[in-house]
Amino acid sequence: MNIKTIGILGSGQLGRMIAIAAAEMGVRAHIFAPDAIGSPAAEVAHSATEADYTDEAALKAFAASIDCVTSEFENVPAAAMRLLAEYFPASPGAEALHIAQNRLREKDLAKSLGIQTPAYSAIRSAGDLAAALQKLEGKAILKTTELGYDGKGQIRVSAEDSDAEALWAALKTPEAILEGFVDFTAEVSFLVWRDRDGKMGVFPPAQNLHKNGILAKSTAPAPDISANAIEAGNRAVCAIAEAVDLHGILAMEAFVTAEDTLIFNEIAPRPHNSFHWTIEGCVTSQFRQLVRIIAGFGAGDTSAKGEYVMENLLGEDLHRLESLYADGTKSVHLYGKTEARDGRKMGHVTYQL
Ligand code: AMP
Repeated sequence: MNIKTIGILGSGQLGRMIAIAAAEMGVRAHIFAPDAIGSPAAEVAHSATEADYTDEAALKAFAASIDCVTSEFENVPAAAMRLLAEYFPASPGAEALHIAQNRLREKDLAKSLGIQTPAYSAIRSAGDLAAALQKLEGKAILKTTELGYDGKGQIRVSAEDSDAEALWAALKTPEAILEGFVDFTAEVSFLVWRDRDGKMGVFPPAQNLHKNGILAKSTAPAPDISANAIEAGNRAVCAIAEAVDLHGILAMEAFVTAEDTLIFNEIAPRPHNSFHWTIEGCVTSQFRQLVRIIAGFGAGDTSAKGEYVMENLLGEDLHRLESLYADGTKSVHLYGKTEARDGRKMGHVTYQL
């Protein structure tokens, strides 16, 4: 029997869960990352290459050993993906990565597709920031446009903050986005899959609770979101998938206001933390769906099997492990990280409501 091998760029928990899903389906995973050896992903994969994303010889050898490739993070250098895409269609695709690497490009794309965004301005100097703060009504969030995650690279500001120089210096970035603060009643995420032929579909959306900018809990299918907002979100995430010619899966985070308006926040063209519940909760999990699509098996049924809750386990939550294990109704997932720092995602737990 011809055993397929998928290549995964990145060595973290998303790569780990893609590799586990692949192994369950009889597919091998080959991890490529600068810190691959001993990583959460390599620990459960068939093979691993430890090399830099700019190492062309290593990338070519990697390409020769795999049948298809995906990336578990959006900040993979574009040149590495371009090189791999010469061998086979690479997931999530060049345009999806290009857009998702920059918050301004994400918001511009959403806006161009008629998807509502918070008011925002591009900030490239202390002068830009001073001008934007003057126009500001109420609170706002200043975010780096690139490389920010889990609330990092973000500062909450208000119209009274007149010291643009100090704020700009604190952010340490060449480019930022100043976003109007959305007074939301709920946060919700959507997940779309799309194959090479342009066939696509969605997962049931998740309702999310963040603490200190980090996802704490997802409940799905989103219990308090109106059918209208869900339809708007599904339509938006499908429009984005088409616009970026997605090959794989893509998540969109959004806010819902008291007026039931859906407002775009950001996208991630990869498995998403708020859909980890799909491992237990959907006929086909987000990880299996990604493997199915890139390995060319065809998409699976993404309907939910019930109502599920997923809670992240951060470094400071590990004291709860014993009681979580003692509760046989909860599925504990640990990512194999040896160093437990506060705020670091160490694992998650999923249970049915
Ligand atoms: P982000 O990295 O953009 O996902 O932001 C992390 C979290 O900060 C979000 O999930 C929200 O809870 C909050 N947040 C981000 N942007 C805004 C905004 N424009 N208005 C209100 N809250 C926000």
